[in-house]
Amino acid sequence: MNTKASKDGNPHGEEATVRGVAILGSTGSIGVSTLDVLARHPQRFRVTALTANTQVERMFEQCRRFVPAQAVMLDLRAADALQAKINQAGLAVEVLSGMEALKQVVASPQTHIVMAAIVGAAGLQPTLAAVRAGKRVLLANKEPLVMSGNIFIDEARKSGAELLPIDSEHNAIFQCMPCNYRTGESRAEVRRIFLTCSGGPFHAASLAELANVTPEQACAHPNWAMGRKISVDSATLMNKGLELIEACWLFGVTPEQVDIVIHPQSVIHSMVEYLDGSVLAQLGNPDMRTPIAHALAWPHRVDSGVKELDLFNIAHLDFERPDLDRFPCLRLACEAAHAGGTAPVALNAANEIAVEAFLERQIRFTDIPRIIEHALSHASHALNADLEAILKEDAMARDTARRFIVDMKHEVKRGAL
Ligand code: NAD
Ligand code: MG
Repeated sequence: MNTKASKDGNPHGEEATVRGVAILGSTGSIGVSTLDVLARHPQRFRVTALTANTQVERMFEQCRRFVPAQAVMLDLRAADALQAKINQAGLAVEVLSGMEALKQVVASPQTHIVMAAIVGAAGLQPTLAAVRAGKRVLLANKEPLVMSGNIFIDEARKSGAELLPIDSEHNAIFQCMPCNYRTGESRAEVRRIFLTCSGGPFHAASLAELANVTPEQACAHPNWAMGRKISVDSATLMNKGLELIEACWLFGVTPEQVDIVIHPQSVIHSMVEYLDGSVLAQLGNPDMRTPIAHALAWPHRVDSGVKELDLFNIAHLDFERPDLDRFPCLRLACEAAHAGGTAPVALNAANEIAVEAFLERQIRFTDIPRIIEHALSHASHALNADLEAILKEDAMARDTARRFIVDMKHEVKRGAL
């Protein structure tokens, strides 16, 4: 037996080939954590492309450090500004802009792994391009899967792409039932999945208190440091609802097989219960570098920089049922998961619009579920929709949600007169 570890720490003693990694959304929370893990393994991974929306300064710093072959800014003016800095610094980085460029860099032959970490439905097209190109796709960006999970799974089957979940819960489930993912053979042996949930920053807040919370309070998650949109989703518990739908697509289970469990310590990242009564759990400190490193190196294990778990300091692991009255977004998401078809598309679209309006202080925290419920009641709920129909439903729900917000604001003004 060969027991010699290779230079990059591969415990199997193989000399690893360097794999090219492209990051969609490199300037965001997941993007930055991914670069942190990659920087620890230069013999194993090379950054081929970095992409972002508008954050020129951060992107330039990343280009200076990792010198990718290509850098894409979705925004044309941001790309011009980045190009000027790249020229001045004399870096060999090609700067591109626009959606087509995003799709092109993920399909490049130099890229083997694509981290999908754009926020929201905006990530759908480039992530799908990576799947169609047969890459290993690390799925952090859950909204496209919620909108069009059937299309992602079908396209991955056709192209041979590997879909590896980054969401900590789904990565945990994957670690507890990996053979299901590869062959589907033991899925019938799974009784249910426990999807754990921290409860968010307002876990103990009353309905009256929820009406007055600010974007700053909503974005201050007790256990995880994340982007603003997912932080608000975690505070409304919509994030857990989106994750329920995500789990059904990724693991081929029904919504009835997924139990949502409030677990305030965020140490158990999810569990799988089998027919014989065995429950497998994955534990770890709440740090996204663990699932990122796991999916980058899978089926091997590499150092992620995450500190070791101190069970004696944690001491207790608590579990509670979620409260659907105080957190109606979770109820709406469960209903959309059961309804199926394009209901999750409308749910997700209306949620994105409502969260944006809340972050811009146009509406209250408790208005978010009202807007989603209104959009869902006006949605078409089509079954077997293709991509075109999905995008149409998405646009329609956004429009309905925006108009409802305008009406709500008029109502508030009338009330104040
Ligand atoms: P973020 O807001 O911190 O970063 C988003 C990234 O996407 C940025 O690089 C931004 O430039 C880019 N982007 C934004 N809009 C874009 C557009 N229209 N076109 C192209 N690029 C665009 O978000 P995040 O917290 O890193 O989350 C990213 C995704 O990962 C989300 O779908 C989120 O639900 C999921 N996720 C995040 C975490 C976490 O810990 N942050 C955990 C699990 C899942
Ligand atoms: Mg999660």
